[in-house]
Formats: sequence, structure tokens, C-alpha cells
Amino acid sequence: MKILLTNDDGVAAPGLWAAARELSQVGELTVVAPSKERSGAGTSISLKRPIRVHEVASEVEGVHAFAVSGTPADSAIVAIRSLFEDQFDLVVSGINRGSNLGHDVYVSGTVGAAMQGYLHDIPSMAVSMYAYTDLDFSAVARVAALLAKRVATGVLSGPMFLNVNAPNAAIGAIRGIGVTSLSQNSYCDRVDRGVDDDGQYYLITRHEDMHEAPEGTDLWAVEHGIVSVTPLPDRVVDERFIALLERVVPDIQDELLATVNQRA
Ligand code: MN
Repeated sequence: MKILLTNDDGVAAPGLWAAARELSQVGELTVVAPSKERSGAGTSISLKRPIRVHEVASEVEGVHAFAVSGTPADSAIVAIRSLFEDQFDLVVSGINRGSNLGHDVYVSGTVGAAMQGYLHDIPSMAVSMYAYTDLDFSAVARVAALLAKRVATGVLSGPMFLNVNAPNAAIGAIRGIGVTSLSQNSYCDRVDRGVDDDGQYYLITRHEDMHEAPEGTDLWAVEHGIVSVTPLPDRVVDERFIALLERVVPDIQDELLATVNQRA
């Protein structure tokens, strides 16, 4: 099995290499990751701008590693479509320093890179730690490898796009692994204003005060010492809203066509 490992913390990040050590036991692993940290890059790609790729020193014997001058999604796209002749069987993105829970999946570079695997019909997973300091990657790196093993044996098949988040705990202290749904908010975003030589500016920052989350969600899981595995795309759209939209859209269609008929 050929595995592509990428991330958004950059090719030198410890979390990437913790994952590399475990995943190299499961399949033929290649690392292709941004040359520097690109957290928050989401799904963005560098359209019509040259992207440079160069091989860098690897921390795991037998694993080749490449640094990419673009975004996490660029790294995945270039690796999947151009760098190698053979198709990858699995794409893993992470292990990210800091969680990617709930609506974070829409802005996360870790998830954005994994999404490229999914969009290329390759089973994919984003892997993140629910902590920033004194990180113990051992449990979640092992979980990623155990999931990868099941992709290799065909136990997990079909379209697969997983968002894995883990509490910062040793394997013995993990209280389980749960299939979860996306919570709503996780981080509290804040916009501060400041002034410098170029005038007023705005600064978006995130702080770690998490919102309350209902049982069964990703945030609830990691707060309870459980490794969270969320299948994406998640049902984030309310059923009632879908029903409402299905009633409203025909009206819009009628109104649109009525304009044309009036002109005719
Ligand atoms: Mn990151």
C-alpha cells in the first residue's frame, strides 16, 4: 500500500514525523508537505504560481520527504497528480499541533490537504491533537496506523474522509475511540484592532476557550479523553433547512422564468 503523508504545520513538524514512524510500518510511505507552517490555509491552492518541490532529509529510514513551497492542498495535489507515477492508496494529513474540531474543518489546512485525497477518490484522513504543548503523539499515531491497516486490508473501503482528533494522553490513559459528529464552534475567534505605520489593521486570533459541546460530538469526545473519529462530509445541514430550500427554490425558478416571459 502506498501512503502519502502531508500536513499544514510544515515538513519539519514533530507531529508529521510521529505519524511517519507509525505509518511506515503499514505501507510504503512518502512525505510531501509544505516547506513552512501553513495552518489556517484551509483548502486554498496556489493557482498559476510556480510551486517548488525539493527533497529534504527524512527522519525515518526508507521514507523520502519533499518540501513544497505552496499550501497543504498544493502539496497533496502535486504529490497525487504529478510527482509520482503510481497512485496513492491512502492520504494522511497531520498530526496537527492543535485540534481541528467542528467548524474548524472549513478553515483547517490539515483537513484541506486530506480533502484533496478524498476529491481524488483516495481514502483520506486528517489527524490532530487536542493540545498545543507537551504533545504525546503516541496514541493518535497508533490510531492512524490502525486505521491505515484496515484500508490496506480492505476492511475500510469506498469513499473515506475522516477527521481524527485525539486528547493529549498516553495510550494507557485514552478512554476509548468514538465515531462522532461535528460540533459547532470550537475555538473562539477574536478580532483585535491595532495601528501601525500603515494605519489601522485587524488581527484575527483564536483562543483555546472551547464552547460547550453535546455528547456524541467531536469536541465532547476529546474533552472526555476519547479519540474522536468523524466521517466527513458530515451532515451539517439541518433537515428542516433542506426541506425549506426544496420549497423555496421552485419559487425562485418560477420568478426567474417569469422575468424572461415578461420580456418575451
Ligand atoms: Mn497546523
